Amino acid sequence: MGTRVRRELAGKRVLVVGLARSGRAAVDLLLSVGSKVVAADRRGEAELALSSVDWRERGVELVLGEHPRGLTNGVDLVVTSPGVPLSVPLLSEARDNGIPIIGELELAYSYSDAEWVAVTGTNGKTTTTTLIGELVSSSGRSVAVGGNIGEAISGEIIGLPPDGLVVAEVSSFQLDTIETFRPHIGVLLNITEDHLDRYDLYDDYIAAKLRIFENQTSDDYAVLNVDDELLDEVAHEIPGTVVPVSRFREVEGGVFVRDGWIVSQIGGGETEVMRVDELGLPGPHNVWNSLSALAAALLVDVDYMDASDVLMTFRSLEHRLEDVALIDGVRYVNDSKATNVDSVKYALMSYDAPIIWIGGGKDKGFGFESLREQADHGVREAIFIGEAADKMKAALDGVVPVRLAGSLREAIELARTMAVRGDVVLLSPACASFDMFKDFEDRGRRFKDEVARLMNAAAGHGGKGNKA
Ligand code: ADP
Repeated sequence: MGTRVRRELAGKRVLVVGLARSGRAAVDLLLSVGSKVVAADRRGEAELALSSVDWRERGVELVLGEHPRGLTNGVDLVVTSPGVPLSVPLLSEARDNGIPIIGELELAYSYSDAEWVAVTGTNGKTTTTTLIGELVSSSGRSVAVGGNIGEAISGEIIGLPPDGLVVAEVSSFQLDTIETFRPHIGVLLNITEDHLDRYDLYDDYIAAKLRIFENQTSDDYAVLNVDDELLDEVAHEIPGTVVPVSRFREVEGGVFVRDGWIVSQIGGGETEVMRVDELGLPGPHNVWNSLSALAAALLVDVDYMDASDVLMTFRSLEHRLEDVALIDGVRYVNDSKATNVDSVKYALMSYDAPIIWIGGGKDKGFGFESLREQADHGVREAIFIGEAADKMKAALDGVVPVRLAGSLREAIELARTMAVRGDVVLLSPACASFDMFKDFEDRGRRFKDEVARLMNAAAGHGGKGNKA
């Protein structure tokens, strides 16, 4: 597992920048180790809803609104939240003054004695992280699951016994600010275009993702989806022991699919774990997620029989190909979390039935042409909403009939009139949500509310509806 370098932060002045979930957890962790904490955020107290914290009584200096110049004077360490771009003036000032800057992930890591599994990738992180958490829990071991999902990891590690396991979902933004972070098992699921709004170059984004392995040695494991061409190419550069995962070919020492069976060669020998069609999660992408989660679980000694039970019963998380309802034979699926092109491509591959696809939202700078082939194959009609609607229409025109709608409600109404028994109405946006919604969760909930309305209306007309 390697020895962890514990920062000595008692009595040190530490500036925490960004007071959303991870920043807050960092403040609490720093207070618990006796640091003098300065907590800064551009937003004001009301907007941050800080009334529930007792930081002032515990000596935290709060700096809200505009950051005054010189705020980093006398500061020993800066801890940033993943939501704060590294280019903000306050962090430039810290760099100019030679003050070390680390992220909340690095802080949490250096203060936990447990073994770590970390999961990254463009898509599938939350699903895979949650699944690994379930797999390990099934073995009776204490697990803390967090990071980019649920609770911030700094909060989750408090109270975890040293023989427990941390399963952390880590984003590229969190990996941008690591130093000694060395997960015993790092899982990299895939790398495709995303966050072009925050990285100048796609190569920078790739480099950030690969940092998950940078401090590993051959005592550690790198679970790698080698069906992703890019990952296959970089495998030989990774210092950890690569445990390959593949849906398409036998990979020595890894986990793969052969003749419909999921096979593991982890730990020597070979085990047929279960049939791939017994997996609880739908779609080809979730086969990779399941294989990767299984590999991580087997590496931390979860029994494969226990693992297969979990893999059979684990269902899609909310907003990720979430089955919402069946109304008059039409299935409604909420995939609001699909905010990039690759996740939508796999969503469109996940159903044999014709799809009425609702997409669109805030443009993140992608080209949508790469969806043409899959749309041609699986989509009967497309309905686009939001800022990106015209651009998506232009990219898909001629492949599928495209309609534009002024709101999500209008899109769903339209979908209902187009769909026939056996069809799937799928919300899978390929865009961010911020043009019309608070976030992807708000968008997904609004979709579900509208579907509930349809279900009630159908019941009123003697139709049949079931909540999924
Ligand atoms: P993340 O946390 O990386 O955003 P999620 O598990 O929340 O990943 O899934 C986000 C979206 O990506 C969902 O629409 C989901 O269906 C899709 N998805 C999940 N796993 C994959 C994968 N391995 N490849 C492509 N898309 C995926």
